[in-house]
Amino acid sequence: MRLQPIPALSDNYIWCLTDDDGMHALIVDPGVAAPVLEALVAPPAAILLTHHHGDHIGGVPGLLECWPGTPVIAPEDPRVPLATRRVSDGEAVQVGPWGFTALAVPGHTRSHLAFHGHDLLFCGDTLFSLGCGRLFEGTPAQMLASLDRLAALPGTTRVCCGHEYTHSNARFARAVEPDNPALARLSEELHTMDQTGKATLPTRLADELACNPFLRIDVPAVRAGIRERAPAAPAADASRDAWFGALRAWKDGFAA
Ligand SMILES: [Zn+2]
Repeated sequence: MRLQPIPALSDNYIWCLTDDDGMHALIVDPGVAAPVLEALVAPPAAILLTHHHGDHIGGVPGLLECWPGTPVIAPEDPRVPLATRRVSDGEAVQVGPWGFTALAVPGHTRSHLAFHGHDLLFCGDTLFSLGCGRLFEGTPAQMLASLDRLAALPGTTRVCCGHEYTHSNARFARAVEPDNPALARLSEELHTMDQTGKATLPTRLADELACNPFLRIDVPAVRAGIRERAPAAPAADASRDAWFGALRAWKDGFAA
């Protein structure tokens, strides 16, 4: 099995999974068609779509033009056209030799899905390495509940995010939690990668649990960072949702 992030647009990744004999392929979130047509010699077994934003679905018409009849698996949302199958939370999705479970993860958008299976998580714009998606259609409580679900997956899970935001997210994460040794180590590795221009993804869920402030809202050092440095901090006895909302708002205004 080969997992490949195909860079697209300014900082998107289209995920491409192929099996060892090259018989089957799976494409996730094709924001554009051209690099996928270049990467694959035969039609994919299916296209998975996590949410309706154009930079995740814009390539679907071009792919279907070349490869008519390719299954397109998408959330229950009319803003994602051309779907051949709509799935909702908990539904099993079989693509060639691979089985995935759809997980409803609202927050970035209200109908956002993630797909989990084979120790892989395709999570679109919900979870990023060292960050999380902006709350375009959801509340902090919804996004936090979605991230809690993802955080409960096995630590070995390889997290396949929709964007290469890791370097700027790392600067924010260090502002939140400057004394986290795991984060310092990861930042060092990222610095080396930056020189080579290599994709920082997929990331391992265990590393995210150790370093990503949005998965660490219950950690005292993260709350101390918010209290001391965020433009608006909640009261000490505020809810987790309120702490999470303050962290997300801080990031929204953070110049990395
Ligand atoms: Zn998006």
